[in-house]
Amino acid sequence: MPIESFNPYTGRVERRFRAFSRAKTEQILSQSHRAAATWRTTTFPERARLMHRAADLLRERQEELARLMALEMGKPIADGRAEAVKCALCCDYYADHAEEFLADDEIKTEARRSFISHEPIGVVLAVMPWNFPFWQVVRFAAPALMAGNVGLLKHASNVPQCALALEKIFHDAGFPPATFRALLIGSDMVEQLIADDRVRAVTLTGSEPAGAQVAATAGRYIKKTVLELGGSDAFIVLADADLEVAAKTAAQARMINAGQSCIAAKRFIVEKPVLKEFISKMKTHLLAFRPGDPLSEDTQYGPLARPDLADELTEQVNDSVKQGAKVELHGGQSKPGTALFRPMILSNIKPGQRAYSEELFGPVALILEAKDADDAVRLANDSRFGLGGSVWTHDVRRGEELARRVEAGAVFVNSMVKSSPEMPFGGVKKSGYGRELSYLGIREFVNQKSIWIA
Ligand code: NDP
Repeated sequence: MPIESFNPYTGRVERRFRAFSRAKTEQILSQSHRAAATWRTTTFPERARLMHRAADLLRERQEELARLMALEMGKPIADGRAEAVKCALCCDYYADHAEEFLADDEIKTEARRSFISHEPIGVVLAVMPWNFPFWQVVRFAAPALMAGNVGLLKHASNVPQCALALEKIFHDAGFPPATFRALLIGSDMVEQLIADDRVRAVTLTGSEPAGAQVAATAGRYIKKTVLELGGSDAFIVLADADLEVAAKTAAQARMINAGQSCIAAKRFIVEKPVLKEFISKMKTHLLAFRPGDPLSEDTQYGPLARPDLADELTEQVNDSVKQGAKVELHGGQSKPGTALFRPMILSNIKPGQRAYSEELFGPVALILEAKDADDAVRLANDSRFGLGGSVWTHDVRRGEELARRVEAGAVFVNSMVKSSPEMPFGGVKKSGYGRELSYLGIREFVNQKSIWIA
């Protein structure tokens, strides 16, 4: 893929970038490696001061960052501002808590003293996607830098300006430049980086094929990986749920980022007695979403990030309809090669259809009919993915019981799935492994060293 800012709303290339040469990449890697040796010796208060400053800059520059997201991947400007502010929260959170999260864990043994010390591992490579171009990176970078590691970012090729803007924020905040660098490189350069002994671990957020390839390479070179991949989250609606609230939230949960979110609700599994009413209410709420220019204040959803992603989604929908899915709400692309995709509802989703087994990364709601609560859980778990899920019921104890039975990294009862700095984020099955955020996220890329004093 060329490294360029392609505006999916206007269809124009805003800026082209020349990919870094091998020599330049090598120079940056060598600087990062050297920086890792000194950065690890800094104290938590020193790191926290810079991280709070980065948070301030994210808030101060929210307008500029939101504009970049709108231009490079079509995110509505108001959502872009909210993303920048959320990133600031995450920086503040790790600035405030990293020391406590990485404090020694005392363990009682026969030793005079035994404990686990959490030590930085060095350079961590982050391969990141375009859908939340700041949030996805910050939730890696804030804990990594606070833990004393150094970050190298290989961002998606369609968001180079977002990558550079974030690099500038960390540099302007006072982090030594080599502690966080953006590499403008294609995915073909990733293998070589992973193979290099100076890179100690890799984290990737993106598609299953990209995750599988990066993890395979990392395995060959004995490097730890964290993978945050796709999802096809179930949104289970029981007959006793508050249907109005559930349908309204269902529409919001499907429309996050024009449907391009790993934790967007994708499969709406509804108990039979309320199925028709739920579809009708959800249709009303989906139709109320306003499409438009991402730079305009009242736009609620913009185009998909790239026209090829919209073409691929149309293919998944068309194939599913041929395989028996029923269109309840017509929408989609106006013509091939364009990125705007209007919301759709497909019902009668059954095994054997692409929509049943694949992730649909855009605003297409899939409706599955459940005989009862047990059947709903069975359908929810009949998926290769296991990222998030939600359960809607008046009976919160039953909701909790069902939440425990859903195979996913996170299940919310009577709320849509969200990420927040305090709670761990990650999946099971083909949604990946490892956890980001919370105290678990910062402990992924540290040497958990046993120290025994006889
Ligand atoms: P990709 O997985 O291809 O891209 C994500 C990141 O991985 C980018 O930085 C990309 O670089 C890089 N990458 C891709 N292939 C490789 C590889 N073989 N080795 C190393 N790095 C690689 O996502 P797409 O943009 O193609 O989106 C396709 C689908 O991925 C979506 O429809 C969705 O299903 C899923 N996805 C999931 C996301 C999530 O949040 N979990 C986010 C984005 C996508 P480059 O851009 O240079 O190719």
